[in-house]
Amino acid sequence: MKIEELTIEEIQKAYQEKRFTVTEIVQGYLDRINKLDPQIGAFITLCKESALKEAEAIDKKLANGEDIGMLGGIPVAIKDNICTRGIKTTCASKILEDFIPPYDATVVQRLKDAGAIIIGKTNMDEFAMGSSTENSAFQKTKNPWHLDKVPGGSSGGSAAAVAAGFAPLTIGSDTGGSIRQPAAFCGAVGLKPTYGLVSRYGLVAFASSLDQVGPFTRTVKDCAISLQTIQGHDPLDTTSIQREPEKDYISDLHKGVKGLRIGIPKECFKEGLDPEIRSAIEKAVRQLEEDGAVVEEFSLPIMDSGLSAYYIISSAEASANLARYDGVRYGYRAENFTGIEELMENTRTEGFGKEVKRRIMLGTYVLSSGYYDAYYKKAMMLRQKIQKVMKQAFEAYDIILTPTSPVLPFSIGEKTADPMEMYLADIYTVNINIAGVPAISIPCGFSKEKLPIGLQLIGDHYTEKKLLQAAYSLEQGLGVYHETAFLKEAE
Ligand code: GLN
Repeated sequence: MKIEELTIEEIQKAYQEKRFTVTEIVQGYLDRINKLDPQIGAFITLCKESALKEAEAIDKKLANGEDIGMLGGIPVAIKDNICTRGIKTTCASKILEDFIPPYDATVVQRLKDAGAIIIGKTNMDEFAMGSSTENSAFQKTKNPWHLDKVPGGSSGGSAAAVAAGFAPLTIGSDTGGSIRQPAAFCGAVGLKPTYGLVSRYGLVAFASSLDQVGPFTRTVKDCAISLQTIQGHDPLDTTSIQREPEKDYISDLHKGVKGLRIGIPKECFKEGLDPEIRSAIEKAVRQLEEDGAVVEEFSLPIMDSGLSAYYIISSAEASANLARYDGVRYGYRAENFTGIEELMENTRTEGFGKEVKRRIMLGTYVLSSGYYDAYYKKAMMLRQKIQKVMKQAFEAYDIILTPTSPVLPFSIGEKTADPMEMYLADIYTVNINIAGVPAISIPCGFSKEKLPIGLQLIGDHYTEKKLLQAAYSLEQGLGVYHETAFLKEAE
């Protein structure tokens, strides 16, 4: 079997049956990345030496007959806004170009403790602001299914890495859709967990009340395996959940959707939705009905208003979070300045890209006295309303189903001139972060041009188990994942 087609589950089985060593697998992925990533641009940093060294250690454990666990010896790539001790963490920004964190993010620590092997850091939109990975200060990532198209964003590098068969597991962050939308664009499975389920410690903050870390994988089962490892309370993150999370997402995956109440918001199927996406979703709905789910259309009027609340709240929080990059303490410092104010001004002018500056300015504006009531306060009221309306929806339905994105992967450069156009691509994903609930994007088909189409399943707080179960049933029913398992274009 080709390395790029392997799932976590299959690699683990191959280790147990001694068909591959961990070193062979890690070397195999590194070779593939070296050969093909120049076309894709998914990685900012590769960790060749440390990865091979860790692989050797796990091989020893295997040889001694030790239990290496489900993620033991599994190569993983991490979005470059998640801190990795001793490995550059740039946020795809010039301002952090040479930043080497002295500590690991909790997710990274948990992956390492589970024996996963970090093979590299992936490209992204600068500070996770964007929907296409075109805002990176270093490179543009291409969609492995079609090299003229964007991979989505902001975790485009992580999504493309899975789609290109560079790693069976990658980690991203999702503030308004940055795991789900690129997963949809690249034909991967991407999960944004309930806010607080996965620790944010060591994730470079964009909008702290919305940010969540989550996995990209080839299959729903691999997603379940990964979530089990990275989730759970973390004393280092004050917003992390206090209660014990569900321990086993796997045993019940096959239980199906019989009797499951699934609601479909009408608002998602108005004009603006690509007709090919519409028909792929309709097919998936028929599949769910055949499998015994009770699917019903309903009205979720807040669907449209979420975007304005999202861009105000996230920019406000970003303007506060990014104030720390001042050229004084760490990161890039402008060379020419006289006095502290000019130092900060020049550092930020030179260090931040256009989109990041736009968000900081917007955020500062909506928080300034005189405008606070008109914008920020209103957005916060809308946030409460969205939370309430979503809660009500979950009284009637177990799961809400929507397209992940209204549009197919668009061409590189197509939306960069008009930020509003770009923001509109997030219409189905942002409300989920505002409500703090979990959502998963799974591949549900292809366009005529062979571009992946994603479908989003949304659950109430902490219902990841149910969500994964429904996603698994749909994945098996549609059988689409078989097709997404390897890169064709760049071969
Ligand atoms: N595309 C959205 C934005 O630009 C979401 C980003 C994210 O989830 N990090 O803000």
